[in-house]
Amino acid sequence: MQYAQNEKATTLMLRIKLDRGWARFAAIYGKNGRVKPGLVIIDGKEVQFLKVAYEIRYYVGGKPKYLPAGRSSSDAEDLRKRFAAQLTARAIANAAGLKVEVEPSRKTIKQARIDYIKSRVDLGPDQLRRYEYVMDLFDKACPNVYVDEITKVHLLTFIKRLADLPVLQALRRKPSTRRHAAQRRKRYPVQLGTLSPRSVFDYFIVLLKFLKDIGVDPKIFPVPPKFEEPVITVYSPEQIKFAFSLLKGSLRIALSLMLKLGLRRQEVAFACFSDINVSKRTFLVRGKPEWGFRVKNWVQREVPIPDDFFDELILWKADHPGQVLIVPNSNGNPDTRLLKSLKRFVYLHGLRCGQCGHCRLGNPDCEEWELHRFRRTYATALVRHVDLRTAQKYLGHKRITSTERYLLAASAEDGQQAVSAIDFTKPFYGGPNAPKNGAGSSKETSMELTADLSQPEVGLGHPEEPMADSLQKGSEEIE
Ligand SMILES: [Zn+2]
Repeated sequence: MQYAQNEKATTLMLRIKLDRGWARFAAIYGKNGRVKPGLVIIDGKEVQFLKVAYEIRYYVGGKPKYLPAGRSSSDAEDLRKRFAAQLTARAIANAAGLKVEVEPSRKTIKQARIDYIKSRVDLGPDQLRRYEYVMDLFDKACPNVYVDEITKVHLLTFIKRLADLPVLQALRRKPSTRRHAAQRRKRYPVQLGTLSPRSVFDYFIVLLKFLKDIGVDPKIFPVPPKFEEPVITVYSPEQIKFAFSLLKGSLRIALSLMLKLGLRRQEVAFACFSDINVSKRTFLVRGKPEWGFRVKNWVQREVPIPDDFFDELILWKADHPGQVLIVPNSNGNPDTRLLKSLKRFVYLHGLRCGQCGHCRLGNPDCEEWELHRFRRTYATALVRHVDLRTAQKYLGHKRITSTERYLLAASAEDGQQAVSAIDFTKPFYGGPNAPKNGAGSSKETSMELTADLSQPEVGLGHPEEPMADSLQKGSEEIE
């Protein structure tokens, strides 16, 4: 009989970290029957804690089990009552020879996330790792939360935690013990920083997506944290010219694939000679299931190869008979250390900028040189010469807004000529947009501008295009 009693008994416990480690204490109830939040009795004395986690203790086969119950005393007590009722129902059913399972509908985030990760078969390994990482962070910020008890406060706590997160933790838990790595760390100590606002935003969006998919009401989502969208950085023509006059061999081909075909780092690593269509002079960007590589956004794309680089590629192929990958590493596998090769090349040929944070500290890895910047240089040049849709197709962008950003970068540079022709000391004289002409004419100009797809609303546009033209005409009239 005692045994049966035990099977139904539930106790609300507080889990508290003490100096000697984690300990559990039974909750204390006030005269009104409510739990006194954070209050426990240690060695006969009442002690108040601010941060506690609640758990429900129950027994299975005489052994205690603990069910996480969140951080709120009243919610935890509610849960305990419901849980006790379920246990009683089960005990009665068992006595009557029926079998009733404890309702599994209430899930903690931890349980929900295991199912969720399993369900996301569409994600690649890197993305999955990222999701897992974000969920880990959320778990640390708000441990033992049930899916149905998530509130705005939890999400705000998460944002706060992200903003305070030391960046090193994000990079690697255990620093490398390789001799060179250790030496370099000693010589160029890495400064502790926090996540960039952009990463905070990205991580937060990942979390929101997860919460939405497991059925949390989007109404409780707070406004995502803001970040400044950085200007797109590209290599200057001089940098490219100088670097390519020195580049040789495999690294030259790899960087050309980025600069002249706009391939991403991974796409270069997995590029095969069989992806080249010799008669059409195009390159097919596609997944390589045998290496576990798949294309971003699940869309293959065909990119034209410029003639000069095509000839180079054909020569490169003839020099490497029997090779599958275009730029493999020394073992014949996809090269995952391209960045390292680039940084070494930059160091050996004295291409370091001398002004970035690393250069100033004497760190050999100049921050000015990065792989993706070659693709950005390609994209910025491309949008000047083909229409936006075509550029989007070649770049493999899912959204046209991604491509438009490059147009903005290009237009600011091209607009330099146009603004040079303006006399800013006489801003209101001449020019089609001048207010003295009345509202009619300025409206017309703006409609003409928006009708032209290649002309964004921001920036001053291409010199060949109507707005810059008229700006120049206007200034001629003044002079
Ligand atoms: Zn530098």
